[in-house]
Amino acid sequence: MSFNVAIDGPAGAGKSTIARAVAKSVAALKNFIYVDTGAMYRAMALYFLRKGIDKTDESAINAALGQVEITIRYENGAQQVILNGENVSGLIRTEEVGNMASATSVYKKVREKLVELQKNLAKKADVIMDGRDIGTCVLPDADVKVYLTASSAVRAKRRYNELKEKGTACDLDEIEKDIIDRDYRDMHRENSPLKQAEDAVLLDSSDMTLKEVVDAIVAMIEKKQGA
Ligand code: C5P
Repeated sequence: MSFNVAIDGPAGAGKSTIARAVAKSVAALKNFIYVDTGAMYRAMALYFLRKGIDKTDESAINAALGQVEITIRYENGAQQVILNGENVSGLIRTEEVGNMASATSVYKKVREKLVELQKNLAKKADVIMDGRDIGTCVLPDADVKVYLTASSAVRAKRRYNELKEKGTACDLDEIEKDIIDRDYRDMHRENSPLKQAEDAVLLDSSDMTLKEVVDAIVAMIEKKQGA
């Protein structure tokens, strides 16, 4: 049986950085792979953008799904997302793709396709999987579940610093507004909305350092493994 860790939470809570650090830190216990499910929704969104499909046109999106194949592979431990044979990992981190991913992840058929891929990965390997619906829907029996959040102001500031470091022009207020809009959409959609699973542990990282959050999750995993 594989050992699975689910990390859910809103955009910009630091899930991917933390999940990666946790995977590294518990490597001696288990050979975890880190699965970033947002990257899969982003790759799918990139396909829709390239095809000029309107984000509100559910039937066009459903019709296009048969032409989209998304897989992942690992290069030096880092997840690469492959869209119809093309490694698109370097193309999916823009606000445009993120917003399209948020808008198109509301559709049932989009979710079904990616959830199946995610469930299969977790069956085959020990995973630390991050997303919005991992603890509630993809891996309801995960061994450890964390709901990681932070205030929208803190999340916007982190995103702003990241973009500034890359030399991308950005506006803090606009980023926070985007984050609030995306949270709203993710939490209020009909299919698998973002919410804390009943058995998930809530971690608010607004006033915690990265190390404190990682240590807290590692302790949960160690406890569960010892049990
Ligand atoms: O986490 P990330 O920002 O990369 O995710 C992009 C979008 O994909 C999110 O805003 C969310 O709408 C969607 N998503 C989802 N379910 C997941 C992961 C991501 O709906 N498990």
